Amino acid sequence: MYASVIVDIENANVDRTFCYKIPDGMSIEPGHRVLVPFGTTNRKTEGFVVSVSDECPDSLTQVKTIIKALEPYTVMLEDQLKLAEWITGVYRCLYVDALRLMIPAQLRGGRVKEKVIRQISISPGLEISKAEELLKKKDGTYRSKTQGQIFELLIRHGKSMSIQELSACVTGAAPAVKALIDKGILVEEGREKFRSPFDEGIRESKQPELTEQQVNAYEKICDGIDNRSGMFLLHGVTGSGKTEVYMRSIAYAIEQDGTAIMLVPEISLTPQTVNRFRSRFGDRIAVLHSRLSPGERFDEWRRIRLGMVKVVIGARSAVFAPLSNIRLIVIDEEHEPSYQSESLPRYNAIDIAIRRCKLSGAALVLGSATPSLTDYLKARRNIYCLIEMNDRISNIPMPLVEVVDMREEFMAGNTGVFSHALKQSLTECIDRDEQAILFINRRGYSTFVSCRACGYVFECDSCDVSMTYHSVGDVLKCHYCGSTKKLPTKCPQCGAPYIKYFGIGTQQVEEQLKELIPDCRILRMDMDTTSTKGSHAKILRQFEEKQAQVLVGTQMIAKGLDIPNVTLVGVVAADSMLHIPDFRSSERTFQLLTQVAGRAGRKEKQGKVIVQTFTPENEVIRFASMHDFKGFYEYEIAQRRRSLFPPYSLFVRVLFMGDSEGELFIESERYAKGITEAINGTLDRQNANKGELLMVDAAPAPVKRKHNLYRYQVLLRFARTKNLPTIIKAIYAYHKDNRGEFAMMPEINPNDMF
Ligand code: ADP
Ligand code: ZN
Repeated sequence: MYASVIVDIENANVDRTFCYKIPDGMSIEPGHRVLVPFGTTNRKTEGFVVSVSDECPDSLTQVKTIIKALEPYTVMLEDQLKLAEWITGVYRCLYVDALRLMIPAQLRGGRVKEKVIRQISISPGLEISKAEELLKKKDGTYRSKTQGQIFELLIRHGKSMSIQELSACVTGAAPAVKALIDKGILVEEGREKFRSPFDEGIRESKQPELTEQQVNAYEKICDGIDNRSGMFLLHGVTGSGKTEVYMRSIAYAIEQDGTAIMLVPEISLTPQTVNRFRSRFGDRIAVLHSRLSPGERFDEWRRIRLGMVKVVIGARSAVFAPLSNIRLIVIDEEHEPSYQSESLPRYNAIDIAIRRCKLSGAALVLGSATPSLTDYLKARRNIYCLIEMNDRISNIPMPLVEVVDMREEFMAGNTGVFSHALKQSLTECIDRDEQAILFINRRGYSTFVSCRACGYVFECDSCDVSMTYHSVGDVLKCHYCGSTKKLPTKCPQCGAPYIKYFGIGTQQVEEQLKELIPDCRILRMDMDTTSTKGSHAKILRQFEEKQAQVLVGTQMIAKGLDIPNVTLVGVVAADSMLHIPDFRSSERTFQLLTQVAGRAGRKEKQGKVIVQTFTPENEVIRFASMHDFKGFYEYEIAQRRRSLFPPYSLFVRVLFMGDSEGELFIESERYAKGITEAINGTLDRQNANKGELLMVDAAPAPVKRKHNLYRYQVLLRFARTKNLPTIIKAIYAYHKDNRGEFAMMPEINPNDMF
């Protein structure tokens, strides 16, 4: 028998299968990791077996032989191998890169070992007198004192001992034990111990009775599980009980003898979330996320692979979990950009999940209170089956949202970060012994320029996005089309001289809050306070235990928090997210405002949200304050259609990075020119309109220098037509032959274009 092997080397020159002979008696199947001799020097190299046959596909005179299997089990299942092959085609990556997605990095090169407690005991059936004969000299003393001590200790102890225990009793135990094992006097047996990422025990919880709208959702999803197909978009307002629907549906999948994957954005994967699932599914659940130690990650992966769990809950990469017989994949907060991988291969977890569901006959549920426009459009077009849950559990009202006009505050002489209304609500909230959350958006910090008197924001004349301030030349620049404007000293709308770069930080908010309410107990959650392992969870626990009255934080606090005592949420500066120079900033602002507002008043108490803004008339803020997703959707999708932004068009970006700005400038210009010709040629051959290429622009990237490297980009935009697949092929073909020294892989609809 022969095996086709992909060697575990990241190099385009070896990006193909190599044929190896399987030695007689060795059982090798597709999915095994193996050690093989590779190259002219026959260096021992790890590899993945992707197929097995009785003929060698390579016409070689001398076929090399597999040295050994690295694990006794196959590390990849059949559907994962198919998935990897599909990924190489779609994301244009090396086969080995796609395969590596499926296994924990620690497995490769044997970097993490299984944690085994070695138990040492006297060989069963050994005659003690025979052993003594072997160990003792004629005069009755032991040849080796240490070996004698260990031997006698084990006889006295009467049962096995670990090597640590023996070492504690006898100095120099380890080599002596080894010698005794070699002589056949002792045996060792390994008992594997799995490191567990869970710190607390399981708290049992009972299942609530489902509400009518939950039953409706549950039954539709169960039909999908039964039919081994179905893609659902579950649109449910915050607090409508989506998580309960996920858990019931997962339980149903398990009852059908299946398994399930539950994806959650990394930052919502809090102990609170995990414990909710654990209390339902107990130790049939495994968790995968980036905060696990390498050992924990490896062990969780093995528990999954060895069939010890039924449910995997995890962040983006958990979509590759080695579960067999998957019947359901749930993606919560499906609109979150973190489902898009930013490292190579740049996969999208939703696309992967769709593929995986098809391969293993599973149902897919995408859930959100604010689905992405693209996915909602797909539901409208019946690509997904739309399920709606419009009411909160036990009819708790949606929180009241008050929009505060910060221009008025400014004109009235209030230059602090808190409006009068927010100050008052904070004081009242604390007086009532309730808790508050203050939210500051960190992204977009200080990038856009606005007038503090009238709220005017500088926007590009042709692109409908806010312009970014560039200190070089003191100009405003649109990074979609590259056009620039001189920064005026006076506001073009009201004439006031208060032009300002926007930006408020969490520390500033904390300081001003202390001034306002001196004895206020405050917790702060941002990049600075959550850099160590477990700190994120610790802050949340402290807040939950009411050790603080106010939690000040960034994005991290927007999601998943379910704390009954929180009745006030303050959005300190809604504008900072609205004017991030990205065509998605309206959508992201709506999503974020809705999520943040959803933290207020989740149990009996009515919640209140205060949104501070310099542009209260803005549509996005208006729709969000009325909890009107559909209104927002209609408004924003019309905008996108009008200005031909995604989903009505497609962006492709090629980033150039290097030491010399001059070289990057020349290279990106050359590339832009070449690729335009190549695409026009393709469009010609398709008899298509050249206008389908909406835009090509070579320019410095918005963040022009990063990690000491200059960055330029070529940005292309295409109308969404039937010709798109052909165009994308042409782009990759052009790229392959003309990439030059500095160009990165083309990115299709990158998450953000900074
Ligand atoms: P979502 O995920 O849509 O924001 P959750 O699933 O977190 O909503 O539900 C909100 C709250 O309501 C949670 O505290 C949850 O325990 C509770 N809950 C969910 N379903 C029910 C139900 N059928 N009966 C009573 N309480 C429920
Ligand atoms: Zn523009």
